[in-house]
Amino acid sequence: MAFKIALTAGHYKYNANAIPKSLDPKGTTEWRLNDRVADKVQKLLQGYTGYELLRTDDTTGEKKIEVEERTAKANAFQADVYVSIHHNAGIGGGKGGGIVSIAYPNVGNVTKSWQKAFYDALIAATGLKGDRASGLAEMDLQELRETNMPAVLLELGFMDSTTDAPVILTEKFADQCAQAIVKVLAEKGGLQRKNGTVYRVQIGAFSQLDNARAQLKAAQSAGFKDAFITS
Ligand SMILES: [Zn+2]
Repeated sequence: MAFKIALTAGHYKYNANAIPKSLDPKGTTEWRLNDRVADKVQKLLQGYTGYELLRTDDTTGEKKIEVEERTAKANAFQADVYVSIHHNAGIGGGKGGGIVSIAYPNVGNVTKSWQKAFYDALIAATGLKGDRASGLAEMDLQELRETNMPAVLLELGFMDSTTDAPVILTEKFADQCAQAIVKVLAEKGGLQRKNGTVYRVQIGAFSQLDNARAQLKAAQSAGFKDAFITS
């Protein structure tokens, strides 16, 4: 038993969402930005054990996978957490924006704690707070509503903001986002760093108590003597 992560890069290669040509002559698409971060998350996770990862998107971007299919896959996988990577739009060429972490309205505390942990880590890593009083939002989105596990949709800056666009285009920003996301997954999911010693199992992050117990046992038998369960 391991901590199960469902990860998805929003949209696909031929979706029209893109950075406006005025801000990026190449008109980089949202999917490309989403997929770059998701791929980096996947790669960084390889430095850990104690998890199973399911990409619910088509990682080539060629095939359009409807959100219904993505959530159905995550539910069948019985994921402990669902993370959807997106980049925002709606500033219309103005300034400001910033990262937004979205959860379903009136969700429970476990989901809220994932939502806030991702937001805090992303802001700490990138500084892309924009002009928002709070980057925590609630929206009735299919991916958040139909998932059986805590689900968070991350909007990693605004593609049509003159201040965000140059930042979110950089490889450095994508790296920072991926590092922040993986840090949260590792800390809350009790992942074991392959070359590290610190290990903890945060019980509230698991959908099943038995999974948290099994994760703890696995850590102990892997030689992590300081493994413990936190709430
Ligand atoms: Zn999107």
